[in-house]
Amino acid sequence: MDVVKITPSVTAVLRPADGANVGLIDTGEGLIVIDTAQSATEAAQVLGTAGAAPQQAVLLINTHCHSDHTWGNQLFDCPILAHRLCRQMMTDCLTGRWSAESIEQGLAECDDPAWAARMRQEWSDLQITLPTETFDRQRTVEIGSAVLELVHLGGHTPGSSVAWLPESGTLFTGDLIFQHQYPYLQDADVPVWIAALEYMLTLPAQTIVPGHGTLCDEARVVELADYLAETWSRTADHVARGHDKEETLADPDYPRYAEDPPGRFEENVRLMYTHLKNAAQQETQ
Ligand SMILES: [Zn+2]
Repeated sequence: MDVVKITPSVTAVLRPADGANVGLIDTGEGLIVIDTAQSATEAAQVLGTAGAAPQQAVLLINTHCHSDHTWGNQLFDCPILAHRLCRQMMTDCLTGRWSAESIEQGLAECDDPAWAARMRQEWSDLQITLPTETFDRQRTVEIGSAVLELVHLGGHTPGSSVAWLPESGTLFTGDLIFQHQYPYLQDADVPVWIAALEYMLTLPAQTIVPGHGTLCDEARVVELADYLAETWSRTADHVARGHDKEETLADPDYPRYAEDPPGRFEENVRLMYTHLKNAAQQETQ
């Protein structure tokens, strides 16, 4: 875990080996916390490492619904702000993939027993805590000396937003940016995601804090947009030519990174293929 002071009042807690990054903004009237890791235990560790306490938080922001960004919410006793669709998806998950049975099933099937044992322990008192306030397109937050703009972009999930701090030129992107690895597409809309990255390039960002990995800059935004656009258009081309998934995956010209996480290259092509194939079939009906 790396605690990086971007400015005296803006801190990024980077956890490239452990999970999602967390942002801390000292407003002079308490802390704004951006994303809360995957358990109350982890959230407490993150704050402790940064020399902060949960009682200092005056506002939480969830960049999107995924559990590794929101399941530490329960540690805090302050308002939680997120996009309307982030809250909606969290609500829907409560009776689906976040039900006690589904969580247990996921742990039982996990191929990392040490991680599963740790999370079973940490989630023994899990209380999934939903955003208490939502916004629609954009929201300006002003607390003490801090001003930040929340902008809804979608893409990674329908409710994905970025937090932009114009004064320091700092952009917290949530999982719209993964540094050093393939992005996670299970809940994604790829064309919307590409548009989100193009929007980010219009901001005069000095420092970009991705959802996972180390700090990055505009070059990574461009690289990720290129990866998504090229993979999407190549896959659309294979679908149009009537290729099946295996023929599509055999294309040697897809953009590739180092294989991190394992299997993600193939998973992403398969997800795009299924989406594009369904869309093509709907068009011909
Ligand atoms: Zn995510």
